[in-house]
Amino acid sequence: MENQLIYSGKAKDIYSTEDEHVIKSVYKDQATMLNGVRKETIEGKAVLNNQISSLIFEKLNAAGIKTHFIKQVSDTEQLNKKVDIIPLEVVLRNRAAGSFAKRFGLAEGQVFDTPIMEFYYKKDELDDPFINDEHIAFLEIATAEEIAYIKAETRRINELLKGWFEAVDLTLVDFKLEFGKDATGEIILADEFSPDNCRLWDADGNHMDKDVFRRDLGNLTDVYAVVLEKLQSL
Ligand code: UDP
Repeated sequence: MENQLIYSGKAKDIYSTEDEHVIKSVYKDQATMLNGVRKETIEGKAVLNNQISSLIFEKLNAAGIKTHFIKQVSDTEQLNKKVDIIPLEVVLRNRAAGSFAKRFGLAEGQVFDTPIMEFYYKKDELDDPFINDEHIAFLEIATAEEIAYIKAETRRINELLKGWFEAVDLTLVDFKLEFGKDATGEIILADEFSPDNCRLWDADGNHMDKDVFRRDLGNLTDVYAVVLEKLQSL
C-alpha cells in the first residue's frame, strides 16, 4: 500500500510508495538530544537538512559510493531505496570532540593521524551502547566480511567528505553513518548526512552543527543555512 507511515523517527518519518523497493523520507522540524529526553521544534530545520543531505548524497552517488538516495522530491521529502537498516551507528572521528573528548579527558580539537572509528548498537531502550567487532559478531548484527566492508567504505566516504568541506572552509570533525541492506542483499549507505549527525567547525572555530542546539550556542537554522549555502558553492 502506498503512502502508509512505515516508521516515525526523531528527525524523519518514512512512508511507503507505489514501488515496494522505494520509500519516501519526510524530514521533520524536530531536534532531539540525550536519546529524545530533550525535544524541540525548530522551524526550517527539515527543509535545510533535506537539502543538505540530498546534496551530499548526490555527490557520494556521483563519486561511486553506493547509497540509498534516489532523488529529492520536495522541500522536505526525498525518495530512497528501501533497505533493512543494520542496527549500528558508525562514528568516524578526525579530531577529538564530544563524547570522545569527555571520555578520555582531552581538549576538543586534537587531530588524529588515523581517523578513529567506533560502533554503537542502535537500540533506544539500551541507550545505544558502545560495541566492538566481537560484540557485533556475537549479536549477529553483521558478519566479519560485512564489517570489513562497512569500515573500508566509511573511510572512503570520510576522504570524500573531508575534501568537500575543506573546499568551503569547514573542518569535518566527526560524523555518524548508518548502512542498510537493499532487496538484493547489497550493503549501501542509508539514513542522512546533515549537521545533525556530524561536527563542522568554521575557520574561526565556530560550531556549525547540532552542538549549537546541544550547547545552546545560538540559532540552529541560521547556522545550517550557512552550511547549505557553502555546499551549494562547491
Ligand atoms: N551522533 C549522531 N547520533 C547519535 C550520537 C552521535 O549522529 O546518536 C554523531 C554526532 O553528531 C557527532 C558524532 O556522531 O557528529 C560523534 O558523537 P559523540 O559520540 O561525540 O556524541 P555526542 O557528544 O554528540 O553525544
